[in-house]
Amino acid sequence: AKEAGRNQYHFFAQEMQQQVNRRVELEQLLRAALEHQRLTVHYQPIVDTVSGKLYGVEALMRWPTDFGQYISPAEFIPVAEESGLIAPLGEWLLAKACNDIRRLNKALGMNCYLTVNVSSQQYRLGFNATIIKQIMQQSGFHPENLTLEITESILLEDDKAVTAWLQSLRATGVNLAIDDFGTGYSSLSYLKRFPINILKIDRGFIQDIDQNQDAVVLVNAILSMAESLSLKVIAEGVEQQGQLDCLTGLGCQYVQGYFYAKPMAIEVLIDWVEQFAI
Ligand code: C2E
Ligand code: CA
Ligand code: CA
Ligand code: CA
Repeated sequence: AKEAGRNQYHFFAQEMQQQVNRRVELEQLLRAALEHQRLTVHYQPIVDTVSGKLYGVEALMRWPTDFGQYISPAEFIPVAEESGLIAPLGEWLLAKACNDIRRLNKALGMNCYLTVNVSSQQYRLGFNATIIKQIMQQSGFHPENLTLEITESILLEDDKAVTAWLQSLRATGVNLAIDDFGTGYSSLSYLKRFPINILKIDRGFIQDIDQNQDAVVLVNAILSMAESLSLKVIAEGVEQQGQLDCLTGLGCQYVQGYFYAKPMAIEVLIDWVEQFAI
């Protein structure tokens, strides 16, 4: 039994070492990819179900490999966060997305919103209003058309400092959204205390909304709470007609998901928008 325990220990130690090596390797590759501008951004439409028009797009980072595939953000974003690379990556993405969507708006004569993820690690690394203003100025993008998505976990940190940070971001004119809403610890009181304008309901609640009464009750509660606080709500991960019907039936105005479109490169997005009712 002792022998078996020792073997198992060796096995785990080896596996852990492999994981560490993979992280170090990924970090080096990611640094090089950023340096050599090998990263890119895809955009996923958010549709206004009331007007039937495109409301906006979410910018999602993409890391293409040499083999025509992508390394998943679920794998490389945590590496970027732990290594601090998320700071330059995040700024690069914001600038690129503002430029891309400003061009799209100009080319098509429309007013497409842009929403961008900001991780709590970026808060710790000094992402602030000055950086936003600089990027807005350089890109000519209007801050009122930009939303920054933060996750609930950040609202649990030092209250005063986070509130001041969020207020300074809001003061630039940008909107603030809570991403993956419902998966964390948000309560009504959080939402009143922080200068939030938008809630994005996590895909987990949308997945079985056409089959599960509990999910309906939950989404309905979020919608009525949001309405009383004058917050916009975007449902994430809508894949099927049944889910969409259920959501519009409950009065959810904005939806995002594969049902309408997957995230796509800017050139593909421009074509998509031209096909879709503008
Ligand atoms: P997220 O912010 O919750 O983004 C939504 C994710 O759901 C995206 O995955 C999107 O492709 C996927 N998705 C959209 N519609 C559907 C659907 O109908 N069904 C399913 N199954 N999935 C759908 P993606 O692009 O792989 O990104 C994963 C996560 O990585 C993001 O989750 C976000 O937390 C993070 N991430 C991506 N880009 C960035 C970035 O530029 N900065 C930061 N800080 N995080 C990012
Ligand atoms: Ca997001
Ligand atoms: Ca989300
Ligand atoms: Ca997420």
